[in-house]
Amino acid sequence: MSSSTLAKRLFVFDFDWTLIECDSDNWVFQHLNKDLYQVQLESVGKDTDMIEALTLMKAHGSELHILSDANTVYIETILKAHKINHLFTSILTNPAKFDDQGRLNVVRFHGLDKAPHGCHLPCEPNLCKGQELQKLIDSQDWDQVIYMGDSTNDFCPSTQLQSTDVVLARKGLLLESHITKSPELVKGEVVYWENAQDVLAATKIILKIDSTPSISSSSSTTSLSTIVASNTMIPSSKSTSSLSAVESEDSKLFARTIKA
Ligand SMILES: [Mg+2]
Ligand SMILES: [Zn+2]
Repeated sequence: MSSSTLAKRLFVFDFDWTLIECDSDNWVFQHLNKDLYQVQLESVGKDTDMIEALTLMKAHGSELHILSDANTVYIETILKAHKINHLFTSILTNPAKFDDQGRLNVVRFHGLDKAPHGCHLPCEPNLCKGQELQKLIDSQDWDQVIYMGDSTNDFCPSTQLQSTDVVLARKGLLLESHITKSPELVKGEVVYWENAQDVLAATKIILKIDSTPSISSSSSTTSLSTIVASNTMIPSSKSTSSLSAVESEDSKLFARTIKA
């Protein structure tokens, strides 16, 4: 891998609970009011550290993609509200549009007209993120691939990476559980993060940007393993029971997405 800060890097992101601090689908249902939908959705996920991290990635020549089981309408609305839609080369997610009655119609990314994707890892029938990530990886000659996510369907893409690649896994959520259970399937370096500040710190290390006083406040060194080590010492805010709750929320979201 090139040591240049302009190495050719591919960053791929999950969306819900990764780029934004909520489940966009559940959020809309909980706050549903057709007239307020647009305004309220735009209040989601105002995290300047995350936006700074994304902006730095792009400024250093990386290509950014979103790979999500949400839908095009929610994601595009939120990205435009934060004026960061131009940072992303593509948004791979379930296609959606409003019909004449103002109802949001969401269709499966992996359509019913196609043969099953056949993935043996815990991917939903409508989307194997691993297969879609592999297409992005194969599309160019990357120096490094970085995948960032939090949940069960982020495990499959995490297994597609090589030893020089990085998985940015949200601490205390289901992706961490899968990595812990089957570490032999994940060849890339795993970095756990809890908040956008951690993501910004990891981004500066990956891009080989000099450390600033605002990052890694618990440590003066700048290595990915330092972030792992410091995060390991932070007690997780999510208990086992809340992990179960998240899993069940994921299932409900999936059921609703398919139904829609
Ligand atoms: Mg997620
Ligand atoms: Zn899969």
